[in-house]
Amino acid sequence: MAALDVSGLHKTYGDTAVVAGLSFTVEPGTCFGLLGPNGAGKTTTLRLCLGLTAPDGGEITLGGHSIPADAQSARARVGVVPQFDNLDPDFTCAENLLVFGRYFGLKDADIRPRIPQLLEFASLGSKANAKLSTLSGGMKRRLTLARALVANPDIVFLDEPTTGLDPQARHLIWERLKQLKSVGKTLILTTHFMDEAERLCDRLIVIDHGRKIAEGSPRELIATHIEPQVIEVFDESCGQLADFTENHRHLAERVEQSGETAFFYCRDPQPLLSALAAADGLRYVHRAANLEDVFIKLTGRELRD
Ligand code: ADP
Repeated sequence: MAALDVSGLHKTYGDTAVVAGLSFTVEPGTCFGLLGPNGAGKTTTLRLCLGLTAPDGGEITLGGHSIPADAQSARARVGVVPQFDNLDPDFTCAENLLVFGRYFGLKDADIRPRIPQLLEFASLGSKANAKLSTLSGGMKRRLTLARALVANPDIVFLDEPTTGLDPQARHLIWERLKQLKSVGKTLILTTHFMDEAERLCDRLIVIDHGRKIAEGSPRELIATHIEPQVIEVFDESCGQLADFTENHRHLAERVEQSGETAFFYCRDPQPLLSALAAADGLRYVHRAANLEDVFIKLTGRELRD
């Protein structure tokens, strides 16, 4: 049985179809990513799947329960890490876990023995009695993750779990999420960070304007949608990038210009690398194509606010 099955999901706000016929399936024990630019409909999709927002059409089955009809039973087996930490600022770390466990109908006697291991998992073992105001952003995120696990859920939803965190804090969250997957939890996450999706997700969908525009594993998406090699060429100040690009665009399958950088997408990078070696004043980076290249190709370079 799928952990989550979504079919033909629709949600409209005013005249805008925010989710417009979305279908996807999440297998148990996997990490599934929902990617898309700002306003694509990711958070709305998560809220629909949790039964927090009523759909205008479509079918959702979460952990075997039909949503929204049976959302309460489903949510008892699901943990949620929301986009913005909503921990209780008046309580300590341990108290936050205790109080949250009570929302799930757990008895104090069942929650208390779990608190040290949950705090340990969040690398907050020494912070049981610390007030929230003394925690860093990364610590609060980890406490929110620990809180989502208080009722030992099978499925965990994470809405942008590492937004606003420094690299060290992000890496620690990634390690913990991998640990959860290794013990069989299903993770469903939204993220803006393509490196995060590439590291964590077994499968993902890219959505834009409420529609699915691509689906697959990160490797499949890179292999299907993008040339394998990328050469980014930067203008060092001599203003020769435009000429260079014009004269060498035939050496790449595709070229994109963004500000002072030209992106050459190639199957065979050697001819362009030779041309660059002979050019003065242009700096360049040669790398393998990644998920961010796929994302930009599918959703464009224009800003979304
Ligand atoms: P994402 O998470 O991909 O950034 P959201 O799901 O938050 O996107 O939002 C998708 C669109 O739906 C946005 O244009 C947003 O303004 C709109 N939207 C979200 N929630 C509501 C709401 N409660 N009422 C009206 N519009 C909403």
